[in-house]
Amino acid sequence: MICFFQRSIKKTIVIEGIGLHTGNKTKIKLIPAKENTGIIFIKDGVEIPANIDYAKRFDFSTTLEKDGKVINTVEHLLSALYLTGIDNVYIEIIGDEIPILDGSAHLFIKHIKSAGIKSLREEKIYAVLKEEMLVKDEDKYIYGKPSEEIIFTYHADYNNNIIGNRKFSYKPNEKESFNSVANARTYCFIEEVNYLKNLGLAKGGSLENAVVFDGDKVLNPDGLRYEDEPVRHKVLDLIGDLYLLGYPLWADIYSYKGGHRLNAEFVRNIKENGAVELLYASEVLDKNNILTKIAV
Ligand SMILES: [Zn+2]
Repeated sequence: MICFFQRSIKKTIVIEGIGLHTGNKTKIKLIPAKENTGIIFIKDGVEIPANIDYAKRFDFSTTLEKDGKVINTVEHLLSALYLTGIDNVYIEIIGDEIPILDGSAHLFIKHIKSAGIKSLREEKIYAVLKEEMLVKDEDKYIYGKPSEEIIFTYHADYNNNIIGNRKFSYKPNEKESFNSVANARTYCFIEEVNYLKNLGLAKGGSLENAVVFDGDKVLNPDGLRYEDEPVRHKVLDLIGDLYLLGYPLWADIYSYKGGHRLNAEFVRNIKENGAVELLYASEVLDKNNILTKIAV
């Protein structure tokens, strides 16, 4: 969401659930924070900023680690915070993984909205991409370029009919775009399930929190929320991982078959190359002549 002022939440939110990969019960507490705090996870008293510097593992989800404290599967919660325009919050975790809930960002957003969003006094800061950036891994790539508007696109190219070759773009100025990304659930193929479980992953996975495909068939009794739900979910993952830059990225991003590892490499490259400039919302808007559709 494009906002003028920084945001936090009005009151503490407690969310319980199970971890997708660990299968363990887990609980998080979102605590209001003041201007310029950023998004800070807290585990056993250790503060871990939601920043690429602490992103350590990318096997089917994104993991943060600092001083031996590990937090798994942060990306959907980070997406929910990005989508609701929240820049400042403490997230205390009791457990080792963020709850998977329904596998999308929808329920996090519901909790955030029911607690209330608080507009703070400082202007929001955007990380505006200054130059083109490309990261590649075989045929997969993520390409970013400076842009007047924010666009995050995912292009899937699967050799099957159900996902196939499709693209989906998120543009924060378009209201519909918000829900269409937020509601998209994580997914996997039935043949991956055993493989993941052998790796000690997806222990908490079920039809309650993931879409499972068997070839071109959807095993979930209620089917898909959108015909292109998997591609939309990839956009959701991309949004969450890009938020590890520490600021919302202002750019046109195109991911062709990217995943968590490539997303993280992209963010790391931006940071290492100083490819963004930090600008206040008013400066970004002036620069791009944007006058409307800004949430306060
Ligand atoms: Zn995901």
